[in-house]
Amino acid sequence: MLAALGKSGSETELTLLHEPTLPESAWSYAKECLDTKWVSSAGAFVTDFENQLAKTCSVKHAIAVVNGTTALQVCFSLAGVQQGTEVLLPGLSFVATANAVCHAGGVPHFIDIDKQRNGMSPEALSRRLDEVAEIQNGICFNRETGRPIVAVCPMHCLGTPCDMHGLLSVAKQWGIALIEDAAEALGSTHCGQHLGTFGVCSALSFNGNKLLTTGGGGAILTDEDKLAERARHLTSTAKIPHKWESIHDEIGWNFRMPNLNAAIGLAQLEILDELIAAKRLLHERYRKSLSGLSQFVLHEEPKDSQSNYWLNCVEFVGCDLEERDSVMELLARKKLQCRPFWKPLHQLPMFENCPRGSLQVTDAKYENCILLPSSPVLAIDIQPTHSI
Ligand SMILES: *Cc1c(COP(=O)(O)O)cnc(C)c1O
Repeated sequence: MLAALGKSGSETELTLLHEPTLPESAWSYAKECLDTKWVSSAGAFVTDFENQLAKTCSVKHAIAVVNGTTALQVCFSLAGVQQGTEVLLPGLSFVATANAVCHAGGVPHFIDIDKQRNGMSPEALSRRLDEVAEIQNGICFNRETGRPIVAVCPMHCLGTPCDMHGLLSVAKQWGIALIEDAAEALGSTHCGQHLGTFGVCSALSFNGNKLLTTGGGGAILTDEDKLAERARHLTSTAKIPHKWESIHDEIGWNFRMPNLNAAIGLAQLEILDELIAAKRLLHERYRKSLSGLSQFVLHEEPKDSQSNYWLNCVEFVGCDLEERDSVMELLARKKLQCRPFWKPLHQLPMFENCPRGSLQVTDAKYENCILLPSSPVLAIDIQPTHSI
């Protein structure tokens, strides 16, 4: 593993799980914001970033916001999530996915993941709906709780695409809106189509540890003009355009991404292909160095998909928490910053009473997997020696 990273093991410096890659242009774009004083939530970089992002993902609209959690919250609200409704989520995700459902007023309902992709399993989804759901007047209800199930939100885990066609078909059968948590999946494709373009709308994150970072940031993607217009209106305090009047026609949010953040994001978006090439190269090195070790399984992209390999994941099939933690301990001693998966959502105190199906695979993955250092800089050197 150390060889894959070009290290001997005697280094004193920590190899981080994921650090940003900032090209030279990040400094000049940021300086332009400072020089012109356009640092806040209006400015040309926001529009440029949104346009470039939409083009990159082959989607009609991208709306930049302050983080991925708010992007998800807006998506849920647009899909009709409100007090007394349920949203189907994978048991394994970063806490933000479930938090955003609650911020929109809804209740998370957890579904198991599949073994290969670590994303929501279409079979588990279908099984659970057969078990608890029924359609009344065209609306899907949970018979056990009496609440309507209005949305399903698969998450593309570590950049690996979920089985989107399987999930879409189940969602359609039950009349449920599909929203993608594509926070980790910028640049990944499934059957040649960009992630974040399968659902009615989707959320990206540009947090500091993601493939592309704006410091903090996120985006909503959608092909639907009406949804995009609503998202723009709601995320910018629901202000009615006017030359001088400040009039707002509903209770909106102040979620717009500031120009300074968009400037840094745009610089990285311009080198996204290089960043992804670096990720794929690093994955290849891990694959070579771990091949032949049958007790470790390095997670690979499925044949129908291209992963951005945001984080590489190695699985120790059948190990328990104690064994996992002893490997974590060893890796920490080698100065490699590794992480287990997030604690499954249904095991967190605030979600332990939420409805759920069987979460056997979710629980096993939490115990068996370790996420490996995956910064693009570990494979290729893009970072400049800047001078401003
Ligand atoms: C990063 C992330 C988010 C959003 O996070 P923010 O920090 O709010 O940008 C949401 N879901 C998943 C799965 C994530 O990894």
